[in-house]
Amino acid sequence: MQRLVEQFATLPGIGKRSAERVAFYLLKQPKAEADALADAIVKMKSSVRQCSTCCNISESDPCPTCADTERDTSTILVVEEPKDVVVFEQTGLYKGLYHVLMGRLAPLDGVGPGALTIEPLLRRVKAKGVREVILGTTPTLEGDGTALHLQESLVNLGVNVTRLARGLPTGAPLDLVSKAVLGDAIHGRRRFES
Ligand SMILES: [Zn+2]
Repeated sequence: MQRLVEQFATLPGIGKRSAERVAFYLLKQPKAEADALADAIVKMKSSVRQCSTCCNISESDPCPTCADTERDTSTILVVEEPKDVVVFEQTGLYKGLYHVLMGRLAPLDGVGPGALTIEPLLRRVKAKGVREVILGTTPTLEGDGTALHLQESLVNLGVNVTRLARGLPTGAPLDLVSKAVLGDAIHGRRRFES
């Protein structure tokens, strides 16, 4: 029990008391439930990897999107999280490739550029063939700061840098924004001006 509590307590957002609660909850569950949880963790680590091109999580490398020869490889839409890719894919309106930052700059929380997948993005752009990078970070203070940092990093690489149009409500997570609004945001994107 003690070992389990210690393990849970290492998870983000879970303190010692929550860890104890979860451990006791599992103790009372049927064995099959606990087995299913343990199995899901083991399978996740052995089957999910990161696409070496777009940095999205995937069961294959390259991921299905990067491997899709029908996609427009000259355009990269930069988003914060894997779930943002899902949201854009659901609109069916975007045919280019993605780049997943795995977060956004948060200087106050100690999240600097090195914690994000910015270097792999710059490598993709430098490798030529990319004409446009669309900054699709969320319209929040941190998302905007991340976009500004990216624009400054990309500006001298000979690529068009655009930002999604501001139909997006400020602060709204992308997965809560309607398809129509996201579609407008893609089509109405503008040259990035800092
Ligand atoms: Zn990929």
